[in-house]
Amino acid sequence: MSDAPTDPLALPAILHALRAAWQANRPSLAQRDDDLLRLRMAFKARLPQMAEAIAADFGHRSTRESLIADGMTVLGEIDHLRAHLRRWARPRRVGVGWRFWPARAQLRPVPLGVVGVIAPWNYPVNLALIPLATAIAAGNHVILKPSEHTPRTSAFLQALLAEVFPPARVAVVQGDAALASALASAPLDHLVFTGSTAVGRKVMAAAAAHLTPLTLELGGKSPAIVCSDYPLDRAAARLATGKWFNAGQTCIAPDYVLIDGARQRELVQQLQTQVRARYGDFSDAADYTRIIHEGQYRRLRGYLDQARARGVPVIELATVDPERAARERLMVPTIVLDPPADLDLMQEEIFGPILPVCAYPDLDAALAGVEARDRPLALYVFSQQREVVERVLGRIVAGGVTVNDTLLHFAINGLPFGGVGPSGMGAYHGRAGFDGLSKRLPVLWQSRWAASDLLKPPYSKIAGMLKVLLR
Ligand code: NAD
Repeated sequence: MSDAPTDPLALPAILHALRAAWQANRPSLAQRDDDLLRLRMAFKARLPQMAEAIAADFGHRSTRESLIADGMTVLGEIDHLRAHLRRWARPRRVGVGWRFWPARAQLRPVPLGVVGVIAPWNYPVNLALIPLATAIAAGNHVILKPSEHTPRTSAFLQALLAEVFPPARVAVVQGDAALASALASAPLDHLVFTGSTAVGRKVMAAAAAHLTPLTLELGGKSPAIVCSDYPLDRAAARLATGKWFNAGQTCIAPDYVLIDGARQRELVQQLQTQVRARYGDFSDAADYTRIIHEGQYRRLRGYLDQARARGVPVIELATVDPERAARERLMVPTIVLDPPADLDLMQEEIFGPILPVCAYPDLDAALAGVEARDRPLALYVFSQQREVVERVLGRIVAGGVTVNDTLLHFAINGLPFGGVGPSGMGAYHGRAGFDGLSKRLPVLWQSRWAASDLLKPPYSKIAGMLKVLLR
């Protein structure tokens, strides 16, 4: 496996090769289907290697979590793309209206050309291969830059893709922010960027040079609102899955929980029960993922130090030897009770296993608090009362919503996935991705006889016709 960094100066030649090959031979539908099938087979055969590479990059990453979040999701998306590709690619007839009859009009999905994909480290295979497979389904060539923080997984991706695709159809480049920034400034036909909102801003500025169209899949603080009617044991179980899967290093993890004040303590107890049932005493913690690198670990510890220094209650839901914790970058599920709004962990996306549990006096106050923040990537609402859920949905604009659970809207291929405002723009998954990475070319076919031929001077001759047209 190669992990040699790519010189940013090499990008123009790589892009030129991808574009020239695409122009010479745009992938047919049969070619795209075959590409996706070969990708699926090669990927499926290497799932154990994938899980090993990710685990090595994280220090430890639960194998099952890798198989679910980076394996199953990719296989499911490829299957969905292959099942629907021919239908999505078909030109769609559009009515022209009686004024232009008998012309015919259609919308014809055509590939864009060369699509760039810049991926983050947290689900390093999912967030690289789903955009890539979507771009291939739409008939594009692809240049992928995986994250520099998962070097073994990036090498795995490079080897996998080199086996499946000729180098002029899919190129993988390796490098850090300098290379990513050069790629964002390059003349691409579309760029799918997944990462933080701060870097997303830089990507948008860089893409402006060539007016490169963007899909920005960013982050933010996604709230979970537990309403007073919802059973706490079930809420706690589903919050625990959403928050502690991948140790909270998930863009759509519930960032903080809002709960009616009377039930706050009981929710914490239920969360504690969940943690014990799932991870025991953390003596091996095989099913629990570590923090990706030292910088992230320090950032997260800093949030807790700051909260403690301000006298805010910090409740670690398990005890591990501090030396081991630091050595393994093992941060146990931790709750912070009612942190003031000015603490860093209430200002920034947490992206780790720390869960603020905030009491609200009433639902309106909770919604006002959420509304006052940036529009979130995800919103979770727990209530069995339809009108309560509708009240929440009627007020909060979010990238996506799961009602009475967490994370799962991401996994439904038929639901477009994406943020809104500072949590992102554009969407992918399924048809939304296919359309987003195609040019939906409007084509008007004029007929042999057309009334519009008469729309010419001297206009005095068509006064009667104009009267009809202006009806
Ligand atoms: P990041 O923004 O630091 O890095 C993401 C990618 O951007 C990396 O490949 C990096 O090399 C590249 N990059 C760095 N500087 C760049 C620049 N100036 N121009 C262009 N590219 C640049 O994010 P991360 O730490 O890898 O991932 C965590 C963040 O990603 C969190 O904020 C999380 O919410 C977000 N995220 C969002 C989604 C989503 O689908 N919306 C999914 C996963 C993660």
